[in-house]
Amino acid sequence: MKRVAKYYDILIMEDRPADIRLIQEALSEVEERINISVAMDGEEGLDFLYQRGEHTDKPIPDLIFLDLNMPKKEGKEVLRVVKNDDRLKAIPIIVLTNSYHPQEILEVYKLHANAYVHKPLDFDDFRKAIAIIVSFWLSTAEIPPKPE
Ligand SMILES: [Mg+2]
Repeated sequence: MKRVAKYYDILIMEDRPADIRLIQEALSEVEERINISVAMDGEEGLDFLYQRGEHTDKPIPDLIFLDLNMPKKEGKEVLRVVKNDDRLKAIPIIVLTNSYHPQEILEVYKLHANAYVHKPLDFDDFRKAIAIIVSFWLSTAEIPPKPE
């Protein structure tokens, strides 16, 4: 049976304000029942996931958008930590990146990312990509229950 969630919690880990805005807009267009949080570097992202510091009351996300190039702790490092943590590893992580290194695609999947997606350069294509990802994960696939 499909999980009926009142709201889905989505965490965007991204340091580029324009990309954050674009992802937020695209998300809001396809799904109203979402609660979006943003972490602007890898350390803040991990603090959020571990509910440390000012993030003690924050929800564990149902879906994560992860930028690879971020200050303080890069996306691959975040991926390594989360996918090695038994409590957090089931959360789907969608890697969004500007880079085009074939080697990196393999590396990121080996770190157990759930998808590796190039950020489309065109604004509309970017929004379309986000819409497809969200409708797949929230309406077609089952997302895992929140960790205890
Ligand atoms: Mg970046």
